[in-house]
Formats: sequence, structure tokens, C-alpha cells
Amino acid sequence: MSRIVVVGSINMDLVTLAPRFPGPGETLLGSRFFTTPGGKGANQAVAAARLSAAVTMIGALGRDAFGDQLHAGLAKEGIALDHVARLDDVGSGSASITVAEGENQIIVVPAANARVTPAQVEAARAAIARADAVLVQLEIPLDTVEATLRLGRRENVPVILNPAPAEKLPTEWLRLASYLTPNQHELATALGAEAQTDFRELMRRAPCPVVLTRGGEGAWYRDDAHPEPVQQAGFKVDAIDTTGAGDTFNGALAVFLHEGLPAAVRKACAAAALSVTKLGAQGGMPSMHAVEAVLA
Ligand code: ADP
Repeated sequence: MSRIVVVGSINMDLVTLAPRFPGPGETLLGSRFFTTPGGKGANQAVAAARLSAAVTMIGALGRDAFGDQLHAGLAKEGIALDHVARLDDVGSGSASITVAEGENQIIVVPAANARVTPAQVEAARAAIARADAVLVQLEIPLDTVEATLRLGRRENVPVILNPAPAEKLPTEWLRLASYLTPNQHELATALGAEAQTDFRELMRRAPCPVVLTRGGEGAWYRDDAHPEPVQQAGFKVDAIDTTGAGDTFNGALAVFLHEGLPAAVRKACAAAALSVTKLGAQGGMPSMHAVEAVLA
């Protein structure tokens, strides 16, 4: 069983289904509204837990109704929550998501997620030292991300840095990451490169191994053993909702990382493809059994 630690955000997703995206100042009639648990950190934790990993989450929630629901949902997935703070003076994070034409648009309000501290990461040192892999994204304070990268290095545990949402990152941090898992836009932004630069060229420029996701086309990877970018083709599916595809990919990559990068990327593509066939970020995250069935 893989042991995974996730340092990241926990949000309530407020999802609206619409026939198309509204323009500025426009009001549209949507077809459906629902709330569902999300946040890149929580999503990646759930993706790993569904794939039978023992997952510890480091994060923060408000002491509000969303916080209670989100806490209960993560506990039900079997995720250890000892390092998830409950804060009295701030609400839980939220994301307003519109889904239209098989794509999504998202606005995140961090709230409690902006209060995940480096001290929480230090307090979880024993769990991190025991982990097979650590996952961290950019929806929490950047000093907490840095503390995670440094502790991973100190404890010799691989840290997967999912540089989302897109942000320019110090080169030193990129060097500290064991793997960077951007899409093309996030990689260009992280490196401070021109957006239209060829993604293979961006991958060569990164100072650490990169696994780059390309939607339905699958993913590309480059590391010391594969100095030229290698493609893993996407698995053909009917996409219903791509919300959480990248998170499923990251959670699965962490779980299968011990099998080596090519196998882990292939299995992560299979898991992520399954996830886009159902609605909601966490709703479509597959079990180990379902991923094995696709790969058989
Ligand atoms: P993000 O939403 O973070 O930009 P991507 O859209 O690149 O992430 O999706 C992440 C992964 O999910 C891809 O690498 C791919 O494996 C899988 N995926 C996404 N969309 C599809 C799709 N339409 N068909 C099959 N796989 C998909």
C-alpha cells in the first residue's frame, strides 16, 4: 500500500451546468446546480485514497457548515485528518465552477486555505518521513509550499509539485521539486517563458523532471532517464466533465510513482481518463479495480 501525504487546499465546489459560458454582463439560464467537495489538495487526496493509498492530508477548514461537510467527506474516504486545522475566525474555501460544452471555468476563494502554515508541515514531519510520495499545489501560501519542498528533500521523500493555479516560481523551488506536473500554460508561467513556446522546449528548460498533461492527448514526461520528452497517449473516452482530471492524474501519479515514471504516467492517464466520464471533481475518481480493468 502506498503512503501519500497531500499538503493543499480543501474547497466546497459550487457547480452550475450551462449550455455555454456567459459573456461579461450577460445572464444565462443554467440547467442544474449542486455543491460537491473540491479543492486541488482534497481532490488529489481523494484520488489517491480511491486507489487504495493510505493518505494523510495537511490543510485547513473553517468551523462552518461547509467545513463540517468537507471534513466528514474526507474522513469517509479513509483520509487521516489529524493535520487538518479547524479555524474559528475564517470560512472554508470555495470554488464557483461553471461547466459548459465539456469545459469548465473556475473562481476560487481561498479563505481557510490561505492559512495553512509551514508549522503545520513541520508538525507532520513523521508522516512525511514515512511517505512514499508527497503532493503539493499552489492553492495554499507559498511559504508553506516551500516548507514542504524543503522537508521532502531533508527526509529524502519525493515531492510532486503541481504548479496550479499558474504562477511564476523561483528557479530554486523548481530545483527542489522531485517532479513538476503542469499543463502547458502552467509550465510556461512557472518558468516565466513566452506562452507560445513549444511545450517540449519548455520541458527541456525546466530544472527538474516534468510530467506535462495535455488533456485528451494524454501526457508527456522528461527525467534523467528520458532526457527527451516522451509521450503517453491519452485513453479514448467520452468526456462529460473535465473538472478534477488534473487532480486525479496527480493523485494517481503519486500512488504509482514507485513503479517508475513510465508506468506511473500510463496509469495516471488511465485514471484521469476514467474521471472525465462522470460529473464533479471527485465524483468520477476511479477505484484501483476500475484502473486495472482499463489497462488489462
Ligand atoms: P488540467 O485540467 O489540469 O489542465 P488536463 O486537461 O491536461 O489537466 O488533464 C489531465 C489528464 O487527464 C490528461 O493528462 C489526461 O490523461 C486526462 N484527460 C483529460 N481530458 C481527457 C479526455 N478528454 N480524454 C481522455 N483523457 C483526458
